Amino acid sequence: MDDQRGAPGSILIRTKPHEGSRTLLLGGSGAYALPDGTLGRRLSSRRVRTPYGDSNPVHLYDKDGFRYLFLSRHGERGYEKTAPFVNYRANIYAAKSLGVERIVAWTGPGILSAKCRPGDLVLPDDLLDFTRGRPFTFFEGKGIGFIRQHPVFCEALRASLRAAWRKGRTGIRLHAEGTYACTEGPRLETPAEIRFLAGAGADMVGMTLCPEAFLARELEICYAPVAYLTNYAEGVKPLPYRRATLFEGMLPADDSGRVERAKNAIPLLAIAAARALSGKERDCPCAVSMERYRRSGIIGDDFRTWVSGGRSRTGPGRGKG
Ligand SMILES: [Zn+2]
Repeated sequence: MDDQRGAPGSILIRTKPHEGSRTLLLGGSGAYALPDGTLGRRLSSRRVRTPYGDSNPVHLYDKDGFRYLFLSRHGERGYEKTAPFVNYRANIYAAKSLGVERIVAWTGPGILSAKCRPGDLVLPDDLLDFTRGRPFTFFEGKGIGFIRQHPVFCEALRASLRAAWRKGRTGIRLHAEGTYACTEGPRLETPAEIRFLAGAGADMVGMTLCPEAFLARELEICYAPVAYLTNYAEGVKPLPYRRATLFEGMLPADDSGRVERAKNAIPLLAIAAARALSGKERDCPCAVSMERYRRSGIIGDDFRTWVSGGRSRTGPGRGKG
């Protein structure tokens, strides 16, 4: 498919962008267990070799004539990789090298906000990053990356997701905003940690959006998450321990059907939102997050030369932004 290049140990697979597949749907928990046909027809699959290791498999799908890419963060057949062990840099780098401009990322956090119930959908609009120990930037030792984080997520993509939800009339409740706190995992949080996060303004708590969202911004990819709420966070409701059940009692048994329905609705919502934007030029801060570095000659046009471990480039020296 491609010509390989790069120094030994950092072989890059150069790939042609798929026509019409400028969108990546990044599947979260449960992405490996969707009803047949939800994603459409799979046309091809590949792993992309990056300076950070291989990406998760990237699949090209066709859904009713719309082509998009799909990647399951946690595994192909089950929950094989917990959040702290996902190779976020390889996945985002792979997306960029395949020509992706927009990512809809799904995630299944727990609930802190009294307004929410398991099985609701949320379009988060802000982030609290409490991860530690994950490689969190492409710009290690590079002197660049001073990037504004407001809006945290792509507002154009969020608006399109909201419009798709209104049109879809799924009957699933959607909250148009919310603050997502990202913890390191894989363990769940303690009651004191949840009280702390609630005090800090978190509405939900999960383990996957950081550093993924920040990495996408570093490579000028629009990124917006859709959260389906899977359980109550520790101490939010008096829920006794139930042995050997999903979430060990943190999800009331009555709500499990609602949660499954919300998760299964995400691909359709994401595809409809992406379809509505396809072919439109991006006019949002995410598309030009590195513009000032480019204009001042600190970086070139090829993103592979911006990142640590990527191809070196000749030309103007790098400096602090
Ligand atoms: Zn954007």
